[in-house]
Amino acid sequence: MTKQPITRADKVKRVTYDMRGPIAEAAAKLEAEGQKILKLNIGNVSPFGIMPPPNMVGFMVKNLPAAAAYSEARGLKSAREAIAAWHVKHGVNGVTANDVYLGNGDSELIDIALKSLINPGDEVLVPAPDYPVWNGCTIMAGGNPIHYLCDEANEWQPSLADIEAKINERTKAIVIINPNNPTGALYGKEVLLQILELCRKHNLVVFSDEIYSEVVYDEAKHISTGSLADDLPIVTFNGISKSWRACGYRGGWMTFSGDKEVIKDWIAAVTLLTGMRLCSNVMAQFAMQSAVTDEANSPAALIAPGGEFCLRRDAAYAAFNAIDGINVVKAKAAFYMFPKVDIARFGIKSDKDFVYSLLLAKKVLITHGTSFAYPIHDHFRLVFLPDVETIKGVASAMNEFLRELESGKAKLLSVPN
Ligand code: PLP
Repeated sequence: MTKQPITRADKVKRVTYDMRGPIAEAAAKLEAEGQKILKLNIGNVSPFGIMPPPNMVGFMVKNLPAAAAYSEARGLKSAREAIAAWHVKHGVNGVTANDVYLGNGDSELIDIALKSLINPGDEVLVPAPDYPVWNGCTIMAGGNPIHYLCDEANEWQPSLADIEAKINERTKAIVIINPNNPTGALYGKEVLLQILELCRKHNLVVFSDEIYSEVVYDEAKHISTGSLADDLPIVTFNGISKSWRACGYRGGWMTFSGDKEVIKDWIAAVTLLTGMRLCSNVMAQFAMQSAVTDEANSPAALIAPGGEFCLRRDAAYAAFNAIDGINVVKAKAAFYMFPKVDIARFGIKSDKDFVYSLLLAKKVLITHGTSFAYPIHDHFRLVFLPDVETIKGVASAMNEFLRELESGKAKLLSVPN
């Protein structure tokens, strides 16, 4: 008797995470066959030689014996106090240790925050291009992500008109990703204030994902959304994966600020769900405590002119902007850019096929723009973490590939199912 297949839950059918999807699997297969692949599909810092700060690592190692026990569900009080003080220093008023929740990376906390808030049919405004964890977690929570456009012609700042047009009685929250993945944009005070005004008018919760807050170039300053309003419920997400270069330690935090009274029932549900996962990885909690208290951990030298993050950003911008058929907005922050390809000229109909064919031809793995919910097939995300020479090599491989497409020497192939 043939067995009836056991299939995934319906809600998962709408969830995608293509950065680690079929094209990444094809790349892994090529690697298993002995080919060398340059993997620029995820923002994983240390494989590119930029390591976690030694003081942070030292503090974590020193405290390893104390990390064997479960901590309080929210996290170690000492770490939460340090993080609360750090937020206050960045202008977010009234934050105490009780407002801070520690997690196994931001990803886990995004999931908990949405699961505990969203009812079936609730809508969450998410940027396009997005960071797909927000999209996926909204769907898994039973809600519907609704994408608002960020405007390439305006350095990828959020379109206020589009946000306003998409708010209705089902809208419960808005997600702001600043600094932004995948565009490298940094939002100005004015645009943040205007978004907050819409939230005030429509009674929306603000989710501010600030995981790249310390990676900002050209002496620009990151403004924490929570520092701009004391009267709205604002939840800020940050962690040690990016600014503190420790993606694998799995340490993130989520902080409630502003009007906490109006959301006290939801906060109680957050406490309940964080309790159900007992606590987050305690070693990383020590790392987080050190991250925000010891100035020596800061990436200031890496983002300054001549620092490695900055050099790599500059090299990537110059090399990709010089390619005939590509236009790119220079990243102001983070380690991504979202270049545009002249798809009509190169006969590209599917950005997935473009990225897959580039992988096969040039052994470089990037991520197609539609996997970030960008509506048109004409962008890709560039992770500019490799050293300058490698970045130049990637740009030159991309240039060659486009010329080969133009001349008919290279063909676009479809990703196998
Ligand atoms: N938010 C954004 C915008 C990200 O780019 C990432 C990871 O790339 C995350 C959250 C998740 O980070 P974590 O490693 O803390 O789970």
